Amino acid sequence: MIFVTKPFLPDISKYQKYLERIYESRWLTNNGPLVKELNARLCDYLGVSNLVLVNNGTMALTLAYRLLGLNKSAITTPFTFVATTSSLCWHNIRPKFSDIDANTFNINPALLGEAVDDEVEAIIPVHVFGNACDIGNIEKIAAKNNLKTIYDASHAFGVSYKDKSILSYGDVSTLSFHATKLFHTIEGGALVINNDELYEKAVRMVDFGYDDDNSIAEIGTNAKMSEFHAAMGLAVLDDIDGIIGRRKEISDYYEAELSTRYRLQEKNPESSMNYSYFPVVFESEQELLDAMDRLNSNRIYPRRYFYPSLDTIEYTNSNKCMAISRAIADKIFCLPLYDDIGMDNARSIVEILKDNNL
Ligand SMILES: *Cc1c(COP(=O)(O)O)cnc(C)c1O
Repeated sequence: MIFVTKPFLPDISKYQKYLERIYESRWLTNNGPLVKELNARLCDYLGVSNLVLVNNGTMALTLAYRLLGLNKSAITTPFTFVATTSSLCWHNIRPKFSDIDANTFNINPALLGEAVDDEVEAIIPVHVFGNACDIGNIEKIAAKNNLKTIYDASHAFGVSYKDKSILSYGDVSTLSFHATKLFHTIEGGALVINNDELYEKAVRMVDFGYDDDNSIAEIGTNAKMSEFHAAMGLAVLDDIDGIIGRRKEISDYYEAELSTRYRLQEKNPESSMNYSYFPVVFESEQELLDAMDRLNSNRIYPRRYFYPSLDTIEYTNSNKCMAISRAIADKIFCLPLYDDIGMDNARSIVEILKDNNL
């Protein structure tokens, strides 16, 4: 069976080398040597500073809200994984949806102005499928309206925008290192914070509010990454260039074979790609369902990312229909794409899809 994704597992002996270090030190969690090493190597690889490792990507988002003092409302996209929105609702911050661009699937800066009201404190865009948002225009609208920006960069590991890390824009960017993501620590995530004081505050908040002198400086929580999770991250990071290279090969093949028949995501020309997802847009939901059936009967399981459009979920209390997001959500899925999917499987998938589109 071929699923939309399959977690990458490093060579077990490599993972074991890192685990042996934990057994020797008996330092299992609380900012141990492997977490420190992973942090330093990620800063180097991603080209950022002020990175804080945490236990998952949802926690990274909620820490960002807390760090920037959000408590009323934030503008966000209806076309994303549910965590971007549910984390807001969980903290009683009202999500205010603003529709996406039909071609890039990212929040449309031209519509943001309409969504601003007295309660809105921030804009929370997502770099959907690793494709950079129109950061320049989002930042302009944020500055004009005195709003914070938090980029959910869960899909954008290693992506650069205008020749520097995509994580260096806005107030905070968040990453998810969940097992299904391009780079992972089984469960995990990070914040990248573009302000030194807020960075120091985040470091304390992750560990119950303790500061360097072991006094409790403020309200904190427990968002720490363990040494075992960091060990997986270090082992995966050793292989990351190969992982991205193999995904690129499959993505390039899909693109060459499918771009004349199907609508694919329009890439931001100033963004690099990390080949984390391969979305395909159909003419209609029926055409999508037919393609799913055909693939499923060959034991191939693409996934409807992102479905449904989040403005249709009752608890979001959205009073405005996000027409473009709904239209895209109804007819998009992501093709299987993972490290060892292999060219033979990719060829079968392409053949089945082409047959389907008579
Ligand atoms: C995966 C994901 C998250 C949540 O990350 P977890 O590590 O699973 O908590 C948030 N936003 C987006 C866009 C994601 O894809």
